Amino acid sequence: MEYQAKELFAKHGVPVLPGETVDTADAARGVAERIGKPVVVKAQVKTGGRGKAGGVKLADTPDEAVEKAQAILGLDIKGHVVHKVLVTEASDIEVEYYVSYLLDRANRSYLAMCSAEGGMEIEQLAVERPEALARIPVDPVQGVDAAKAREIAEAGRIPADVIDEVSRILQAMWEVFVEEEATLVEINPLCRTPDGRIVALDGKVTLDGNAEFRHSDVFTAYADVVAEDDLEGRAKAKDLNYVKLDGQVGIIGNGAGLVMSTLDVVAYAGEAHGGVKPANFLDIGGGASAQVMADGLEIILSDPDVKSVFVNVFGGITSCDAVANGIVQALGMLGEQATKPLVVRLDGNNVEEGRRILAQAAHPLVTVVDTMDGAADKAAELAHTSSETTMKTEA
Ligand code: GDP
Ligand code: MN
Repeated sequence: MEYQAKELFAKHGVPVLPGETVDTADAARGVAERIGKPVVVKAQVKTGGRGKAGGVKLADTPDEAVEKAQAILGLDIKGHVVHKVLVTEASDIEVEYYVSYLLDRANRSYLAMCSAEGGMEIEQLAVERPEALARIPVDPVQGVDAAKAREIAEAGRIPADVIDEVSRILQAMWEVFVEEEATLVEINPLCRTPDGRIVALDGKVTLDGNAEFRHSDVFTAYADVVAEDDLEGRAKAKDLNYVKLDGQVGIIGNGAGLVMSTLDVVAYAGEAHGGVKPANFLDIGGGASAQVMADGLEIILSDPDVKSVFVNVFGGITSCDAVANGIVQALGMLGEQATKPLVVRLDGNNVEEGRRILAQAAHPLVTVVDTMDGAADKAAELAHTSSETTMKTEA
């Protein structure tokens, strides 16, 4: 969130204005009084375009700050409900610049972007007048020294009278990027005030989750507690590799490659069954225990969009009989929570024994299908018929 980005900026010498976050409108008064100047009240949500959505408002007095906080708290900005606002010193704006560093996967390098025409329409600028947005590759080993920073600022056509200060900020931002192990550091707008000062009025930082173990303090402090009760948050808390999608067939598999192909196969099979699609990605990994299977099933079954579940497992190190036992135990653990049909396809190491275990358990919700295509077709068919039933019941 912006306030978190600004904390990281301040730590590394990127200029920001003083401010505090609050989660009630009344608390905005105290902050505005402490700042003692006009303030801006800003929605803290992990999405851009807050300005246009009514999530950024100026307030001249502490009373007005309360009023504006009241208006912003609870707003839904592109699916993100505002639980927190930043109350920060307002700034007069003469010009808005844009600066960012990001990981450029396509070029296997880092990229700096800079423009003297920042502000809210940067995506539009990139499309309509790409020449106004400089893109300068940054060598990961050399990084951004004074000369490189100047090259970036010049390419972005930052005016001569502020180029030294903007270059200094570009170096400080690079320090944020490297030391905090970010994959994105963006300032938009980087504002030039009428008296020629340069400050970051907005900021966005994406930290590299693979580096979490080196920055557990920052990750813990910035964990998004409010979002944790959604499906992805709950899955993360259980260490599951889960991504929510917008379809109806829940997917569980072992190994990211197998799960990715399962998504394709289900999407294809769904075309013949009313266009049903995969509801999620979930890789339970190699040595999946009954507990992991139960955790995965529980997340998927609690997704109201899911109408059927496809468990697609290739037994390798963990053999099929262990997986089959895992499924049976997981269903036992879930009891009444298991309410949706499951299609299971097992193959690989000790498959015969795995299938025998499932046949013997004869769970009423489980259908075993031998091939991946056949199982995808069955799961899509079940999702389709049960959504039709639901629609009829609702009608
Ligand atoms: P975003 O819309 O989510 O990117 O939020 P920003 O923080 O970038 O704010 C959007 C716009 O609000 C900025 O481009 C500014 O024009 C305006 N804004 C933000 N802070 C201030 C401020 O302190 N003073 C003034 N006058 N405008 C501001
Ligand atoms: Mn912005």
